[in-house]
Formats: sequence, C-alpha cells, structure tokens
Amino acid sequence: MDEANYVQSIVESIVHRMRDQKVKGDVADYIPELAHINPNQFGLSICLANGCQLSFGDSDVPFSIQSISKVFTLAIALGRFGDAIWQRVGREPSSHVYNSGQELEEKNGHPPNPFVNAGAIVTTDALLVSGTPKETLAEILHFARLAVSDNEIYINSAVAKSEIATGHQNWALAHMLRAKGNLCNDCELVLGTYFHHCAIEMTCEQLALFGRCLARIDTKAIHLSETHTQNLLALMMTCGHYQGSGEFAFQVGIPAKSGVGGGILACVPGRASIAVWSPGLNQHGNSLLGTAALRELSRALNWSAFSSSRPK
Ligand code: GLN
Repeated sequence: MDEANYVQSIVESIVHRMRDQKVKGDVADYIPELAHINPNQFGLSICLANGCQLSFGDSDVPFSIQSISKVFTLAIALGRFGDAIWQRVGREPSSHVYNSGQELEEKNGHPPNPFVNAGAIVTTDALLVSGTPKETLAEILHFARLAVSDNEIYINSAVAKSEIATGHQNWALAHMLRAKGNLCNDCELVLGTYFHHCAIEMTCEQLALFGRCLARIDTKAIHLSETHTQNLLALMMTCGHYQGSGEFAFQVGIPAKSGVGGGILACVPGRASIAVWSPGLNQHGNSLLGTAALRELSRALNWSAFSSSRPK
C-alpha cells in the first residue's frame, strides 16, 4: 500500500471516532463572535511530502485561526529582524495562562515567548515599525496567501471588533508593555492589528498547505530559512500549547500551534503537515478533539519527533 493510502485508512478511522465523541470541550465564548460556533464540526487535512493532500470532514470550512496567526507574525518578524527580535521577547515556555500579565510584572515587561499574548503583541508592535496597521495586515495576509497559493484568505472583521470591544485582558497587557517600555506604538494601533490578525479565517486545507513551508516539504512558496524554520518549530514544540505544551509534547510529540478558534497546525519535519479543527477547547484553551486526533495519528503513524523508527 502506498503512503497516501495507508495514511488515508488510518486517519479515516480516527476522524470517524472523533466525530462520535460526546465530550467535545467548550467553545471560546469569551470572544462574543466565537460563542455561537457549532461545536459539532470537525475537519482535518494532511499534506504529505510526496505532494498528496488528504482531507476529511469539515476541512473546507473557514474558521478563526486566532493564535495560529502568531506563527505567521513571528515568521515575518524573524525574516525581517532576525535575532534582534529576541531582545524584546523570550524563548521559554510559561506556566501561566496565555493572557497572563504576571511574568510581565516580574520580568519588567519582557514576555516569556512569542506565542503567549504578551509576546505576540510585542511581535505585532515590531512589525508596525515600518508600516501602518493596514499595511501590516496586508503583509500578513499576503504572506499567508502566498504560502498557500490561494487568495481566498480573509479577516473576519466582526470577530476582530468583538475582541477590540471585550478583550480587556489584552488591553491590560498592552498598557503594561507600553508602561515598561516594550511597545513602540500606541496600544490602539498594536491591539487593533493584533486582534485583526487573530481574526484571519482559514480552512484546514489551507492551513495544511501553509504548514508545508514549516515542515519543509515545500520550500518554494515563501522564503523561510532553515534556521528560522527550526526556531519556529522549536517554539511550537515548547510553547505552542501554552500550559498544555509539555503534555502535548508527551502525548503527541509533534511541533504544533493551537488557537482558541479550535484549530491546530502540526508539522512533522520533512514528512507532513497536518491541520485539524474542532471548536471545543480543553482547560488550557487548546482543541480537545484536535489534540486527541493528533495523539492517535502520531501514535499510529509513528510521527512523534522522538520516535526512532519510521514506517515506510
Ligand atoms: N485573540 C485571542 C486572544 O488574544 C487569541 C488567544 C488564543 O488563540 N490562544 O485572547
């Protein structure tokens, strides 16, 4: 059986099992526009190194990528500023919730990593140094569209507006960063841009295509250096699931980034990229069934980064 058929048969049964699960987690209702998403949706798409793409369930339904956009902004910032970005944000996992301000207070405005909200707000601020919010958002969208070779990627402005109106914790983080001297632009400009890139909508099929660049199974669409790609994957492994990152590495063992829209982008270097979406979240804000599906898939296909044996 060739690899695509083998993967197809394994993943088909995983998706089937996931769709039958009764406990699906809770949708992110703290963002008003996401509160009424149907939790029964489930999509999964995989791109293999041989060029095949396999898609299952609701893989063609656009969803709010939320924090997965932090991978886009960090990739652009690394390309533009290189290692200078690390003067403003750390590279260590955090034991606090993703929107915590505790470490900012303790570390004098230096966020622990670029995937917690404070770190992503700083990265967004860095990108704004050379452009307006509109230009910066256009650059982020261009980056995603180029990577996917698809212009049908948009920002849901109702989602962004609902976060602008209700995301007080993020406002607190931005003001704290500004007070500590780690934000160059006004909080309104930075958070307006941040909330809008979080509100990008993509399908699992599009996200998996994007993931090919990070898994380095297709390096033509956008330029990401080998070093920066390794940097991004290391951070996805150690910080991509917030306080659930250690458990995710333990159970799944694949570098991956989650978002509170219920999506997860996982990249198996040189082998595959996987996007999964199920809107119900676990206690850390990561997709409950998305994580479960990736755990089963990683075990069945031996795709953990820590596996010493690889099936043919
Ligand atoms: N926009 C969301 C927030 O700032 C992103 C959080 C997430 O996806 N973990 O709260």
